[in-house]
Amino acid sequence: MKALLVNPWICDFAAYDLWLRPFGLLRAGTVLRRWGWEVELLDCLDRFDPDLKDNSGEILPRRDRDGRGKYPRTPVGKPEAIAEVERPYFRYGLPPELARRRLEERERPDLILAGTTMTYWYPGYLESLELAREVFPSVPMILGGLYPRLCPDHARARSGADIVLTGGGWGELAASIAGLGLPPPPPVGDDVIPAYDLLRDRSALAVRTGRGCPHSCSYCAAALLEPELLRRTPESIAAEIAGYRDRYGTTDIAFYDNALLFDSPNHLDRILSLLLHRGIRVRFHTPNGLHARFLTPETAGLMKESGFLQPRLGLESSRAEVQQRTGGKVANRDLIRALDRLETAGFLRPEIIVYLMIGLPGQRPREAEADIRFVHSLGATISLAAYSPIPGTADYLALVRRGEIPADLDPLWQNNTIFCPRQGVFTLEAVRWLRQLAGELNRKLPGAEMEC
Ligand code: SF4
Repeated sequence: MKALLVNPWICDFAAYDLWLRPFGLLRAGTVLRRWGWEVELLDCLDRFDPDLKDNSGEILPRRDRDGRGKYPRTPVGKPEAIAEVERPYFRYGLPPELARRRLEERERPDLILAGTTMTYWYPGYLESLELAREVFPSVPMILGGLYPRLCPDHARARSGADIVLTGGGWGELAASIAGLGLPPPPPVGDDVIPAYDLLRDRSALAVRTGRGCPHSCSYCAAALLEPELLRRTPESIAAEIAGYRDRYGTTDIAFYDNALLFDSPNHLDRILSLLLHRGIRVRFHTPNGLHARFLTPETAGLMKESGFLQPRLGLESSRAEVQQRTGGKVANRDLIRALDRLETAGFLRPEIIVYLMIGLPGQRPREAEADIRFVHSLGATISLAAYSPIPGTADYLALVRRGEIPADLDPLWQNNTIFCPRQGVFTLEAVRWLRQLAGELNRKLPGAEMEC
């Protein structure tokens, strides 16, 4: 039996590859292999396809640094629900004719499985599924990932997939395959690493050392999606990373954990010590942000020694009232202490990135400005993330209760680029002004790599 995995296009106003890898989809690939399937991948976001050229025939730039980079993009019309937004809209990834060619090169599969992440990228998902359906009509199609988990009714109504996975877990995938009349697979455990051999470029890969988070912040879906905190063994993670380095020459690893630093003496410290002991050197990245409160001096030292670059810490807001109301994951004193510890370990302050959120429900632009100035006063680099409402979270439900968003808000409006201006408090001008301020302050930091 043969399965075709589809990593679909992204449709958005802006998109950048910040170590985005089809992690869940490729884990499903490993599980299918364990069930005896052959697995192939159509990666619509493949920045390394040898036939990717710009209009003049030049090979497109594919890599910025450390495994990040720009996707090729094509302007597309905006969907009806967001037609009023006065910004250009794009499909990111392979041009459609190239994606079609990559599909037509393959034999007909017995099953198509598509993965998803951001809910508001769904026009790209639907278009990818349509293309796969055109090339392989009547092949059963399963849609999984975050979009159907967070917006199950929308995904069922709009995707055209035969089965929409809304629960997570390999049991649901196994039952779906059996339900399609395909051979029912045996059960499989949870310690599954992605089938990265299917990717064209493996210089930068993602690793997840565990699931879940001990906190439950009002704006975050981590607790909904992964209610249990589960960690893999340090030995298996160190072996996984060493395997990538040895097999693929991988130079960059992005941790996808929500709570990488939790219980670090028994977890991250041991992973890093094992890697150091074996002489494994790669660069580590933390796109999800780290918990400042959990950062011990020992962990900071090991992070520096092991090759962490630009560690990212989550603050979101510097107002104690907001920190408490949204879940109490961090206080200003935690951030100050974490910065001290990282500095003592050898990181320069400007290379440490602190995430701040703008547009949180109830927040005013002047408060966001105060947050920006607070982080700058500590000498760290500011990275702003605009708030977006995630279905099922406490903040989302409160917005619905207060009538600030409809219960059936189109997922397109869950896009942080356009949600803040929609709500009226953080207008486009206000967001632009805050971003400009953060940029200016970042540029004033000595020897800093500007990021905001
Ligand atoms: S601490 Fe981070 S991952 Fe955990 S719930 Fe809060 S925002 Fe989400």
